Amino acid sequence: MNMNLEFERQLTIPMEVKKMYPLDDELIDIVEQRDREIKDIFAGRDDRLVLIIGPCSADKEDSVLDYITRLRKVQDKVADRIFIIPRIYTNKPRTTGSGYKGMLHQPDPNKKPDMFKGIVAIRSMHIRALKETGFSCADEMLYPENHRYLDDILAYVAVGARSVENQQHRLVASGVDVPVGMKNPTGGDLSVMMNSITAAQRGHTFLYRGWEVHSQGNPYAHAILRGYMNKHGESLPNYHYEDMTHLVRLYVSGRFENPACIIDTNHSNSGKNPFEQPRIIKEVMNARRYSDDIRRMVKGFMVESYIEDGAQSVDGGCYGKSITDPCLGWDKTERLIYDLAEMV
Ligand code: PEP
Ligand code: MN
Repeated sequence: MNMNLEFERQLTIPMEVKKMYPLDDELIDIVEQRDREIKDIFAGRDDRLVLIIGPCSADKEDSVLDYITRLRKVQDKVADRIFIIPRIYTNKPRTTGSGYKGMLHQPDPNKKPDMFKGIVAIRSMHIRALKETGFSCADEMLYPENHRYLDDILAYVAVGARSVENQQHRLVASGVDVPVGMKNPTGGDLSVMMNSITAAQRGHTFLYRGWEVHSQGNPYAHAILRGYMNKHGESLPNYHYEDMTHLVRLYVSGRFENPACIIDTNHSNSGKNPFEQPRIIKEVMNARRYSDDIRRMVKGFMVESYIEDGAQSVDGGCYGKSITDPCLGWDKTERLIYDLAEMV
């Protein structure tokens, strides 16, 4: 063999894992109902805002479920204005490849990687979230090959800033049946993001998991503005009025279905200062009031939030505190959602 790889074991295919951990009819109904509502929002048939919110990484099932259970109560109070999709992010892109790569790799962040346990852990956690809270959730499609382990559960899929230029991500997104958010790349070039949306909105023939497959195109592929880094490594925002009108023009100059945008309020938009997120939301809501084009295009926000403020090291041991990007804690999160509901 001409590769320096050790083949540990063959992993169970998605169809088998779904048989081992199935969704019952009641859960399937919830997923389908939510899918319809989300598509209505992205298509402009429903004026509610989408709020994709939760920890940077879903590191532990108990604290993630605790967090989502709290979100459920808030969701019920703002249901006429805001549609919440919790972030359960189970696989994390790492800038240099080292560090915690998410529950898929490490079901226990303090133990060594176990990919089979990881697959089971992420499916079980997403199912538990659905069963206990009625939320179908969002995840990042870091590895397109793995999407089918969760494709019957997810309400929303994001393609990250480091993946958005990759052809396989674009082709697989074109066959995904829920809205896929394409982030602007870390360098900020919006043409990369727009090309990704174009590719995902069209149908393709390609190779997937050893099969030749055909996709229909995903009319709900859309933009996520997450800020960017300049050549000096400084974080710069792209949620301002001018950035959004620029994106409106990019949408007008191409042929796109359902032109839409989500503003990611953390990452390079906040300079990873999570406490900036409420202010950023206020600014964007203000721009939405000022311009009909922006209001029609901006469908909502992506917020990084957890139980405790900030972040800690992987072995920090504080319950409900992020081990990847710093997050907004629960009290501030609750206030942010009620404030946002007032602004809709
Ligand atoms: C994230 O959403 O946590 C993330 C890794 O985002 P990005 O791809 O924008 O860096
Ligand atoms: Mn993050």
